[in-house]
Amino acid sequence: MDAKTAARLALQAGLHRLNVAAEEAAALARFLLIDLRLPPETIKELEQRAIVGNYRPPETLVLMASGSAITDEQGRQWLDWQGAYSANNTGNSNPRVTGANHLASVLTSVLSRARRHRQLPLAAHELQQALGLKHKLLPMNSGCEAIEGAALLAKLAFNRHPRFEKKRRLLAAFEEQPRLIVCRNNFHGRSSWAKAVSTNPAYRDPFAPNTMESEVRWVDFGDIGQLEEALKIGDAYAFVAEPIQCEGGMNMPPNGYFREVRRLCDEHNVLLVLDEVQTGLGRTGRMLAQEHFFDSGDEGADFISLAKSLSGGQEVVSAILAKPEYADLVGPSEHGSTFGGSPKAAATMRAAVREIQDRQLCRQAEEKGRFCLDILRKMCAGSPEILDVRGLGLAIGIEVEGHGADDICARLRQSPFTYRGQRFEGCWTNATHGITDRTTVIRISPPLTTPPDLLAASMYSIAQAIRHSEPRRFRRERLERPASPHELAADLLEELGYLKRRLDRFITDIL
Ligand code: PLP
Repeated sequence: MDAKTAARLALQAGLHRLNVAAEEAAALARFLLIDLRLPPETIKELEQRAIVGNYRPPETLVLMASGSAITDEQGRQWLDWQGAYSANNTGNSNPRVTGANHLASVLTSVLSRARRHRQLPLAAHELQQALGLKHKLLPMNSGCEAIEGAALLAKLAFNRHPRFEKKRRLLAAFEEQPRLIVCRNNFHGRSSWAKAVSTNPAYRDPFAPNTMESEVRWVDFGDIGQLEEALKIGDAYAFVAEPIQCEGGMNMPPNGYFREVRRLCDEHNVLLVLDEVQTGLGRTGRMLAQEHFFDSGDEGADFISLAKSLSGGQEVVSAILAKPEYADLVGPSEHGSTFGGSPKAAATMRAAVREIQDRQLCRQAEEKGRFCLDILRKMCAGSPEILDVRGLGLAIGIEVEGHGADDICARLRQSPFTYRGQRFEGCWTNATHGITDRTTVIRISPPLTTPPDLLAASMYSIAQAIRHSEPRRFRRERLERPASPHELAADLLEELGYLKRRLDRFITDIL
């Protein structure tokens, strides 16, 4: 049988299975309707009885999510500014990604890496093209597996590559073990590796003793002097960092930090591993956040981890990217995963990457992000409780005094507004979990596909709600004298005028 006939037969079989799947879906829909008869209290009871309490989400029961909106069982809508921590960069239930995911799953199932298929090499090649890098791909599933795997491969490279031979011999002579340098306040996930390298007591202390702790040195993120001191000790094999500490409080690196990091790692013969699980593939306005920080044409980090955005919000996929000279040191069965790189996972990655490129989501994120930051900064300026509004692309953080971020996020979920006749109850955001005694940070990471005017309207509503939480302007004015309704109206008009001008300019620029 020739390849064309085989493809035709496979597609016919696939279509047949799609029909069967549609019938199954109809049957499932009936179940769904029956399930809906169960009152929310029963669901809560089941949750308590049958699920480990490692999350405590708000009560709302989500029924569906599409584009930028999440709908609950009562048909109420919210804006999804949490975006599953950037997994939904291409929008909830993106049709292209969903289509690719479904088609691949009716054609084959998991297969495992013990079988070859076309989707994975194509996905790897297309990712190389999209990133402009020669790094090779090792497919995994979760973000945590990807960054832990990247650090593991860095250790394997250190153990095998001739470049490190002298360092290896020196360490052996002094009976010293090679060390990993990581940043304080990092977030790399929840495996025992990630917990051992974490400095957040809430993540690590319940699981003490943490293995491999003795292998780690910590430095402050963004402090190049501390890194240099740690590197001078001479026992490090790799430095692992996030380009932006998202979970740690949307912390941006100081100007020139990563260029210096790269230079120092080269000088001290240390591998650089960047965790782009949350920042990668569009969120910051570039395919990789490292592109902001390295000179163009530079290949950046030796190892890079990707996950969330690579999934198109549809599949558990992640990737370790390794420079070829290090990737080629890995032999069969030295690392791997049953599900990683399945036809369905690879087809989903391909669709997500294509969607990000075809819809120019990096450019969109950059422009929309600048615009959102402008609105938030302008409206929050001078507010004593808002210490900072920062971001890169659509990775945005609002730093508030004290521990108020969770309360503000709860309030943002109840700040209704109307957009083009549609009512939204508010938006879903969340507070990051960086460890500081004094401040907390609200993270805003909308799908990159969100229409600009919807984003603008929402930023305006967010800023209003936050300002409302601390009556700074009113407090000051009341102390001097009460503001007249005329003055308040003039203020509002000025802000609306500003917003409209920015919006007009933005829409002209982008369209
Ligand atoms: N690394 C970073 C930078 C992350 O932000 C996260 C999750 O938020 C992870 C790793 C862990 O990813 P996952 O939850 O998919 O294991």
